[in-house]
Amino acid sequence: MNSRGTAVAKSTDVYLCFDLGGTKLRGALITAQGKILAQSTAAVRQEEGYPGLIDLFKKVAGELPKTPKFKLVSVASAGPLHPEKGVLLDPTNFFTDKKSWGVLNLVASLKKIFKKPVLLENDAAAAVLAEKWKGGHGKTGNILAMTLGTGVGVGILANGELVRAGRGLHPEASHIPLNLDNKDYPCGCGAYGCIEAYLGGNHFSQRLGRLKGRPLTGQEAVKLAEHGDVWVQEAFKEYGRHLALAIRTLSVLFAPEVVVISGGFSHASELFVQETNAFLPALMERYREGVDLLPKIKVSKLQDDAGILGAAYNALKK
Ligand SMILES: [Zn+2]
Repeated sequence: MNSRGTAVAKSTDVYLCFDLGGTKLRGALITAQGKILAQSTAAVRQEEGYPGLIDLFKKVAGELPKTPKFKLVSVASAGPLHPEKGVLLDPTNFFTDKKSWGVLNLVASLKKIFKKPVLLENDAAAAVLAEKWKGGHGKTGNILAMTLGTGVGVGILANGELVRAGRGLHPEASHIPLNLDNKDYPCGCGAYGCIEAYLGGNHFSQRLGRLKGRPLTGQEAVKLAEHGDVWVQEAFKEYGRHLALAIRTLSVLFAPEVVVISGGFSHASELFVQETNAFLPALMERYREGVDLLPKIKVSKLQDDAGILGAAYNALKK
């Protein structure tokens, strides 16, 4: 036991980790060294509601080997959620018959199934912990992770510590508005012009589809750009400039040395990150003397493992 009265991790420990997103649940057995021993994934069936989700945790865990035995359960999940209370706070991704699911005590439900301690963390917070652990960013304790997927997640490490908002909550930085008046950018949170409204994959492809006059997925947009559609290429460049504006705001607030982008959109980074790098220095001009706040932008090498590795790191540190 350590001074906080919690058990100290052993090098032979194994954790049952989950990454819960709006569309899928991934489970994995992960060692204290961050090695993924086995994993399984299943689609979330929103029409089955919360009981269906709990059954899915059982199903995914049931597909993993029975040995080695895991010491505890650690979940990284899309928010909003309360990590210390272990509850999901009316998650924005989950709806059944157009009704949201309300406040759900996920940790209590999973303790009943697995009969082990259960940890819950915001997936973007988990991602930045994974970057600190396995991201290859050297000794820096100042990292900001942006997950650019269907939505946008922001996890912040400052002075080596995970940054929390008041009341033990995760800071929902992707809902900082870049332009509150721009009604072309509605956000899932009910406001307009949030970072997520500009940079979330869903929003980006819907907007592109409206302008093109037909529905378009993010992957189709990437293909069009790669095949020389100048108009779509320009839309990605504009995305890069919006990303620069978001990074400017977050850098002034949290002073990261490194901004790491991950998630589905990061796979198409060559279409926009050059524009971000070209645009950002001018936006930060007044923040470069004394302490130079211009961060280095990197694409995560952890790819889709950032969330689930972060869940393992969270378990390791408890
Ligand atoms: Zn918002």
